[in-house]
Amino acid sequence: MAGEKILIIEDEVKISRFIELELKYEGYAVDQAFDGRSGLEKAISGEYDLLLLDVMLPSLNGMEVLRRLRQNSEVPVIMLTAKDQITDKVMGLDIGADDYMTKPFAIEELLARIRVALKRKKAVVQPQQNKTTLSLGSLTLDLDKYTLTYNGEFIELTKKEFDLMRYLMENRNSVLTRDRILETVWGYDYFGDTNVVDVYIRYLRSKIDDKYDIKLIHTVRGVGYVLKYEQ
Ligand code: CA
Repeated sequence: MAGEKILIIEDEVKISRFIELELKYEGYAVDQAFDGRSGLEKAISGEYDLLLLDVMLPSLNGMEVLRRLRQNSEVPVIMLTAKDQITDKVMGLDIGADDYMTKPFAIEELLARIRVALKRKKAVVQPQQNKTTLSLGSLTLDLDKYTLTYNGEFIELTKKEFDLMRYLMENRNSVLTRDRILETVWGYDYFGDTNVVDVYIRYLRSKIDDKYDIKLIHTVRGVGYVLKYEQ
């Protein structure tokens, strides 16, 4: 756990300093950037295990930093923001944030989320042996190439959509509750709203069921969702 390197991109010097001290106390190595542009430059160097990224930043806002970073980096990112609108949350998660913290927050909660994000990063890095594709009907999810195809046609997915699709595919024909989906795809102590699951199910439906005029993602009223293929 100790020694992992965290970059804080936050323009509020006091907040940044406070987080820095807490993280160092926990044994992490810490680096700081105080605006979006220099933060992005540091972040793409690839030397960090995790990023804490403020949304409202001078020179380049946090969403834009994240969007550009995700073009060539999968480093875990926890967004920090003063806003707590579900739309902002969804937008951040949709462009590839791993988690979200609304300011002001308890430092213990931030530390817990950092541990989860770092642990999940390690879990993702471990290759799954000889199971590189998952299929359902004409739908194929390639875990090596991070692609989803329907009859060979590519369906563009964001990172979270892919993670959700993977979880549904791994548990096809089983009913999954919103809580269980949230726990697995977003992390067990993700304190978010289960609404985020519904929002992402809607995204997947529009990209798969609606587009190809099929019905694979079924709602189980009052419970959750099931992915199944019915002829
Ligand atoms: Ca700020």
